Amino acid sequence: MTFADADGTWNSRLDPGLVDMISRTGAIELPEPMPVPARRRSRGSAKNKLLVDWPNCRAHGLCHEVLPELIDRDEWGYPVVLDDIPSARLAAARDAVRTCPTLALRIVRKT
Ligand code: SF4
Repeated sequence: MTFADADGTWNSRLDPGLVDMISRTGAIELPEPMPVPARRRSRGSAKNKLLVDWPNCRAHGLCHEVLPELIDRDEWGYPVVLDDIPSARLAAARDAVRTCPTLALRIVRKT
């Protein structure tokens, strides 16, 4: 099986000697490398954000208790999301989502 690396060069899981022999004998014509889709190359730039489903939020404030550095509360107790989720706080953000009793909080991935 062959596939292209991120830089477009061929990589092979087959024995390199076997691939060389196949390509020299012409027994199998190896395809030209295919360009890697841009979507796969930019995978690391996506950001995780907290999203509140306002009709379901009951202003319990539990999410703020779990993640105070990213979720503040307004004067009525409703959450105010302050920033994107840093990768180091992703586990804590998932805890905040699990803590919400009305399932009003979720994590979305934005590019
Ligand atoms: S825990 Fe859920 S219901 Fe309570 S304030 Fe946070 S998002 Fe709203």
